[in-house]
Amino acid sequence: ITFNNLGFNKDILKAIGDMGFEEPSKIQGEVIPVILQGFDVIGQAQTGTGKTLAFGGPIINNLNKSSDGRVSAIILTPTRELAIQINDELIRIAKYSNVSILPVYGGQSIDRQIKALKKQIDIVVGTPGRVLDLIRRRILKLSGVEFLVLDEADEMLNMGFIEDIEKIMESCNSDRQTLLFSATLPSRIKKIAKGYMKPDAKHIS
Ligand code: AMP
Repeated sequence: ITFNNLGFNKDILKAIGDMGFEEPSKIQGEVIPVILQGFDVIGQAQTGTGKTLAFGGPIINNLNKSSDGRVSAIILTPTRELAIQINDELIRIAKYSNVSILPVYGGQSIDRQIKALKKQIDIVVGTPGRVLDLIRRRILKLSGVEFLVLDEADEMLNMGFIEDIEKIMESCNSDRQTLLFSATLPSRIKKIAKGYMKPDAKHIS
């Protein structure tokens, strides 16, 4: 299979070409068409398998920019290093798409993040604690979210973020696509999937 027949628009294909990727990884080949079709996804995948493009490509491809300054996608990830890494990869994927991306994480000045969020931001990549803080300050509004991604969900569980995640999920628009990626699926994560995802979510491993 090639990137050309997964359903991406020409802007995404051109960016993938610039990134030098020749063919989709296993998870990309399986997940990309399913997300582009609008399904929720529970993906069992390790790091380094090309997960970021697997969810980031379809999100950037299908995202509708809001006209009132609200974000269209939120990506939750366990660590600031991962938030930065995902942000960098999304910027490369969005090279020819008019989509703005902002990483937010603890340890960085919140005032700087608040200032950045006052501009039109389409995709926020963040750690759960800081994201929840920004929601409580009414700076970040998730009522217009079309895509919610939980990346490395089992790691976020291990790090004690599960209650923050549930609060964040509850503040999201319910008419959205939810994409959950996890190396393992402990019962607490399965419960999140059952409680917060559509019943026809596709399992991919
Ligand atoms: P990820 O699992 O998203 O962190 O990706 C792991 C690494 O593989 C990153 O450096 C990506 O840029 C790279 N990568 C992702 N997809 C592909 C692909 N289809 N071909 C070659 N490299 C890729």
